[in-house]
Amino acid sequence: MTDDPTDAESAWPAWPGRQGLRQAWRTLGIVAHTRPGLAVAIAVFTVAAALLPPAALYVSKLIVDGVVTAIESGAAADRNAALVWVAVESGLLAVLLAVRRILVFLKGQLHAELGFAVSDMILAKADAFSLAQIEDAEIQERIILARQFAASRPYNLVNRIFEAAQHGLTLVSILVLLAAHAPWLVALVVLGGLPVFIGNLRFSGDAYRFYTGRTPQMRERSYLESLLTQEGSARERLHFGLGPELRRRFSALFEALHGEDTRLKARQTFFGSALGLTGAAVFLGGKLWIVAVTIAGRFTLGEMTMLVGLLKQGQAGVNNLLSSFAGSYEDLLYVASLFTLLDMPVEDREAGAAAGPLPGDGLRFENVGFTYPGRARPALDNVSFHLPPGCRLGLVGANGSGKTTLVKLAAGLYMPDTGRVTLDGLDLKHWNGAALRARIGAMFQPHVNYKLTLKDNIAAGAGLAEPDPGRLDRAIERGLATDLVRDLPGGLEARLSKRFLDGLELSGGQWQRLAMARAHLNETADILILDEPTAAMDAAAEAEFMARDLGGKSLILISHRLANLRSADVILVLEKGRIAECGEHDALIAAGGVYADLFETQAEAYR
Ligand code: ADP
Repeated sequence: MTDDPTDAESAWPAWPGRQGLRQAWRTLGIVAHTRPGLAVAIAVFTVAAALLPPAALYVSKLIVDGVVTAIESGAAADRNAALVWVAVESGLLAVLLAVRRILVFLKGQLHAELGFAVSDMILAKADAFSLAQIEDAEIQERIILARQFAASRPYNLVNRIFEAAQHGLTLVSILVLLAAHAPWLVALVVLGGLPVFIGNLRFSGDAYRFYTGRTPQMRERSYLESLLTQEGSARERLHFGLGPELRRRFSALFEALHGEDTRLKARQTFFGSALGLTGAAVFLGGKLWIVAVTIAGRFTLGEMTMLVGLLKQGQAGVNNLLSSFAGSYEDLLYVASLFTLLDMPVEDREAGAAAGPLPGDGLRFENVGFTYPGRARPALDNVSFHLPPGCRLGLVGANGSGKTTLVKLAAGLYMPDTGRVTLDGLDLKHWNGAALRARIGAMFQPHVNYKLTLKDNIAAGAGLAEPDPGRLDRAIERGLATDLVRDLPGGLEARLSKRFLDGLELSGGQWQRLAMARAHLNETADILILDEPTAAMDAAAEAEFMARDLGGKSLILISHRLANLRSADVILVLEKGRIAECGEHDALIAAGGVYADLFETQAEAYR
């Protein structure tokens, strides 16, 4: 370990300490909240499972003593009493068996339902994060870790709490019985369990650090696996012959991870066995003493039977109790990380206003600056412009000049570091999320190709709700996808992507038409943002799109083909995040600057 603040371990909680109890309590709270009935049932059966074994041991003492008395007296009443105790003992053991089976069933239910509840909480949190948060590497890491263990860790913790309660209760009743006959055996039972507990505690910390520390390698391993198996990367993998090297890297990661894993488990096994032997020696000593003292006449035969049983169960009880605690240490560390994730602050997108003070003012960027976390140079620097209703704005610039960043700010997905973006005079950060979404139709770059039905691909433009047929048709028509939908087997219900057995794959241009239709599904939008909407389309489709009347909507259009921007009311030329030029096509050509040079270069190609 180093003191370097970037040390991977420092990102994760250390020993939960006092907080551990709070986290355990909070996890129990989730259980009580999701399935209160189930929790109560498990608690009741746990108490029964805890008290039945010592009760049976006590009855076994009554049997043996009853038998001895019956032999000595020869009376029928004593014989019958002994037989009744045998029946009682069998009854108790039968009930114990049933109780244990029922507990297994109930806990199985809890495992599934708590796993689902926790996964749902993680998904809700992920959905509540802003774009900047979801792009944050530490948050990503936490989400991956949380998802990976959502089904197992919180349940394990709860299960261990129930188990600890069960073992604790059993142990207390055993110790009470022991104390009544031979108080020093109480100390023997408790002290004999300590070595195993200490060993477990140490290894839990190691295991947690080990398994979380290697999350990045695990991620790389599954990424390599996906490169080797998925269709999206197959073209390049086959053509460039990437397979053998990808497999070599995959094996190297396995060797490294498995090697460490083996060393950790071997140490655990070795120390575990050594500590187990200590326990066995302690038990042997206690048993020798009980037998010797019984022979000397201090204990009855029944007491001897019970004490040996109590000693054995007591020792198992201490071991179980302590290993429940030690095991919960590792679970607590994971749960702490989960709660850190769930407690991260998120903005309330449903707060805010649904209209601005200056209706009809449109979109304004006022001295907007934005720098990505960890980047030295701003992606946008002092950008100002006004997009009034009905205005068509073209955005031009080299790769990395900030066009996509500008679009994300315009849609309210990022908030500027300096300056502000307003719609109808109200800062976007004060807009209600749903109201803002209703005003802006967007097609991002890269857009998502949903491996769902064709209809879902368009309905995604309005929250995946079932769209009204007329509206759906208009969106398809505006996305230039009418022929595509008509000709595709299955039409709107066609399952897209070959990943599904009955699925169909589309070409880049066809996917793009669906993305365009998606952007147009939002008919309340008065601003359309299109990031290279026709880059993958054929020339005829592009020309048809550019000639479209937008029905009074304003437009921000990013295009590398400058001919497409001829009809724009204003063109912004971005250079390294700053507005280098601004004006109409003809004016920019006349000015003879960057835009004019670019246009000339493109025009040359067609001559
Ligand atoms: P354009 O769309 O003009 O190609 P972008 O807006 O995508 O440019 O990128 C502008 C700058 O911001 C580039 O230098 C790019 O490397 C950087 N950038 C873009 N997206 C991210 C991101 N998510 N995290 C960090 N830097 C980014």
